[in-house]
Amino acid sequence: MIYTPTFSIKELPEDYVTRKFYSLGHNPTYHKNNGSYNCGCPICHEGKSWGKKSRCWWLPEQNLIYCFNCGRGYTPYNWIKEAGNLTYQDIKKEVLGGEYNIVNLDKEDDELIDEELIEDVFGVPYDSVNLLEFLDGSSDSVINKAVKYLKERGLDSAVNRPDKIYLSHKDYTHRDRIIFPFFDFIGRIPFYQSRAFGGTDNEVMEQVRYLSKVGAEKSVFNLDKVSGDIDDIYVFEGPIDACFMKNGVAVAGVSVGDKQDLTDLQRSQLAAFTLTHRIVWVLDSQILDKTSEEKTHKLLAQGECVFIWPKEIGEKYKDFNEWAKGEGLNEIPVDIVKTNVKCGLADSMK
Ligand SMILES: [Zn+2]
Repeated sequence: MIYTPTFSIKELPEDYVTRKFYSLGHNPTYHKNNGSYNCGCPICHEGKSWGKKSRCWWLPEQNLIYCFNCGRGYTPYNWIKEAGNLTYQDIKKEVLGGEYNIVNLDKEDDELIDEELIEDVFGVPYDSVNLLEFLDGSSDSVINKAVKYLKERGLDSAVNRPDKIYLSHKDYTHRDRIIFPFFDFIGRIPFYQSRAFGGTDNEVMEQVRYLSKVGAEKSVFNLDKVSGDIDDIYVFEGPIDACFMKNGVAVAGVSVGDKQDLTDLQRSQLAAFTLTHRIVWVLDSQILDKTSEEKTHKLLAQGECVFIWPKEIGEKYKDFNEWAKGEGLNEIPVDIVKTNVKCGLADSMK
């Protein structure tokens, strides 16, 4: 059979793009967990952070190369053309010179990837920056204010905080709020919650403490942090409290008291752990919060396991963030919680 190689700029062969990404990008790395690659951007050189940060990503599954520093998305063809200073003919020659099997769609394509697509790919607004990269300060006053807030709450050093906490200046709904990404098992962000911290002059928006990602089903926070070394998973209501406890996850503002409050996605995500871990609910102090006490009874009646705040601690602090801060800790030890868990009605609070 005679095979005639053809050339399509819409679908350059993945290994061709990967090879160009490695030869043109600075210090390229492969990320096995989600099949992506990143490098220092050869187009913008990433300003002052050149050589230190790698903010340019090649996402084969999305057929997209995106640089968080330029803030631009490219089709692989456009990127190779620009980064390699190559012409259409050059690229065509290189591709056809290799042994590639591609479809024929012989047409130029200069369009930029749009913002919504980037958000689909990364899960957070397209212009988001990771606040944890600016703990030593930034020239941006809103970022500095957000970092100050994170530090005041001890989130910069909390043992179980996510690897990234974002801020976007441009998102219509979530701009200048702190964005907590809900990473799943493989590092995607199906859901996020943003929190007001005084980053805007918009009084109405500032009064809405938490906002959810628009149109997304709630997922479980911190799934990528769950370890097999601890037999329990601690399910908090809010993401901030979950940052102070190993194996702490959160379900984001459900009116807990009933497992039915969880979304289908959350239920299936938690169900994945039931063979390997005991699921323990951790609510606010039952001593200081009447609603929390009611929810505890409800959960126990359903056979669930719940952390019962010891009197001397539960009288003093209303949640884990306060507790950690009050005691100058970046972690509430697992043992304290583990020894104060009750499961089911037989164990119910007297
Ligand atoms: Zn760039």
